[in-house]
Amino acid sequence: MRVYLAETTEDEWQTLTFEGNADQQLKTQVPEIIDYIIDKTILDIGKVQSMDQDGIHSWLEIIHTMDPEKRVSISNCPSHFIDKVNLIPQLLDNLQLTSLYLPVNCTSCKGQFEILFEDFELLSSEEASEFISKEECSKCNEKNLKPIVDLKIFLGFHTTKKRNPNAKK
Ligand SMILES: [Zn+2]
Repeated sequence: MRVYLAETTEDEWQTLTFEGNADQQLKTQVPEIIDYIIDKTILDIGKVQSMDQDGIHSWLEIIHTMDPEKRVSISNCPSHFIDKVNLIPQLLDNLQLTSLYLPVNCTSCKGQFEILFEDFELLSSEEASEFISKEECSKCNEKNLKPIVDLKIFLGFHTTKKRNPNAKK
């Protein structure tokens, strides 16, 4: 997969962009990626199309090897990644989640796509549902978007954590 430094924001956070399929090739890139990760790094995985078992393994190696004292965020998480986080919560170890994509369809034009949710700290399934109902369809501009996943399950990793703050050490 392609991994490159994309930009540095004004407050000096650098963005490391991941693009393509996270598969066995990622294993060879692990040392290079760990070198890239300095304090105040955003891992942007919005362009990651898939992550297989090898990709998961390498991802865990990256986040468990990097210095946990460094401030590292993960942004633009696609829904396929969030599905995996619900099975393997460790995929977010040492990371601050800042944004994710919610999969929706439009009941007016039948379009299907994902919308970005950025105010993540406040998110519950009810809030996500309300957020989706206020968004316009990017194709027909109607406000008839509906989640195509069960939001309680999709956001389970987050809401469970909030409800049981001491459940995970
Ligand atoms: Zn539409």
